[in-house]
Amino acid sequence: MTFTYQKSLEMFKRASKVIPTGIYGHLGPAEGCFIPSNAYPFFSERAKGAYFWDVDGNKFIDYMCAYGPNILGYNDEDVDAAALKQAALGNCVTSPSSKMVELAELMVDTVAMADWAFFAKNGGDVTSLAVMVARAATGRKKVILIKGGYHGVAPWTQKLGYPAITEEDVANNIYVDWNRYDQVEKIVKENPGEIACFMATPYHHPVFEDNELPKDDYWQKVRKLCTDNGIVLAIDDVRCGFRLDIEGSDHYFGFKADLMCFCKAIANGWNISALCGTDALEDAISSVMYTGSYWLSAVPIAASIECIKKLKKIDAPKLAQSLGKKLTDGLVKIGKSHGFDLVVTGVPSMWYMRIANDDSMILHQEWVAECVKRGAFFVNHHNQFINCALTEDDIKLTYDIADEAFKVVKNRHPEIE
Ligand code: PMP
Repeated sequence: MTFTYQKSLEMFKRASKVIPTGIYGHLGPAEGCFIPSNAYPFFSERAKGAYFWDVDGNKFIDYMCAYGPNILGYNDEDVDAAALKQAALGNCVTSPSSKMVELAELMVDTVAMADWAFFAKNGGDVTSLAVMVARAATGRKKVILIKGGYHGVAPWTQKLGYPAITEEDVANNIYVDWNRYDQVEKIVKENPGEIACFMATPYHHPVFEDNELPKDDYWQKVRKLCTDNGIVLAIDDVRCGFRLDIEGSDHYFGFKADLMCFCKAIANGWNISALCGTDALEDAISSVMYTGSYWLSAVPIAASIECIKKLKKIDAPKLAQSLGKKLTDGLVKIGKSHGFDLVVTGVPSMWYMRIANDDSMILHQEWVAECVKRGAFFVNHHNQFINCALTEDDIKLTYDIADEAFKVVKNRHPEIE
């Protein structure tokens, strides 16, 4: 028996009348990330631990973790108790709560490079702020970015040719290929005294492509080049943050960033992001005009304090890495037994996978869809995520689902040896 999604579909029809595209952004079927769309639920009803239930009552082992925020398990009792306790005291108040100071102290103690922390709501709030801080600090305009990288949806992060994006929005962006230090060096040489910032994720995790770790000395060379040329090195740790290293992903790869952007895993789903920086940039950030109605709200701040304390206590990055390794090793083996070459890249706590038997991704799309219809929620375009509530039994059940899904796809494709 595979899942059906009658109620999801009815809800989607209602949504389409009052919400542009029904579900906007990458979570909606219009973006083409959920193909075939009849394999996926559209709306969830509730979530707990490693699972979510859709509006039809189907239960999924969730390997997307809300695209990252779920790190401890949905509705973690300790994090949610801290949030609800704070809600009873006050959330959005004229003066910030003292909890904000407590969280900043905790971030500074936890993140190796951090001398200060600034809080906002979304990842894109702090990637844009990082660029502003770099510009304020250097008095320069240009920013070096990696082709295929993602830093949010602010106009400067988008591509020329996308609707509503102007030449001016992206005029100061210069793109280089990931892991090509020679290209970074060349750009810096060609633009003396003009580069404000180099921004990248700690490793390359694009969509629809294998993910790629940094070459051995890549970050060390980039760090030195930035230091020698007065360029601010900003790391977008929005997705990797606390899934590689509790001290920050720059620490994991053995270098020190000037700015670090955090979001997804810092409050287990409560809405908060953070920019951390070094003393040298404190004047620059203090000079920048930047705030928002809900940025100082105390409830997500209280949740984040509890989340970070718990992540440290259980050594969440290590646990997530070992669970991810066990899961992906098994999936590769099961795939092989059916003649499928499942290629796994990135780090195990947020791995990317792709059936490499064909380049079209059709086999991969079919296999992912068959897994989803049986209760293992993967996506076919993006890296997956591990949360710490995942159990050995969940992994075993995922193996069974994957096995069945491989069989179904193989039966449909007798050409596979
Ligand atoms: N940077 C990276 C690396 C991300 O993965 C994301 C979100 N997927 C963002 C920035 C933007 O974060 P948000 O959607 O919270 O604005």
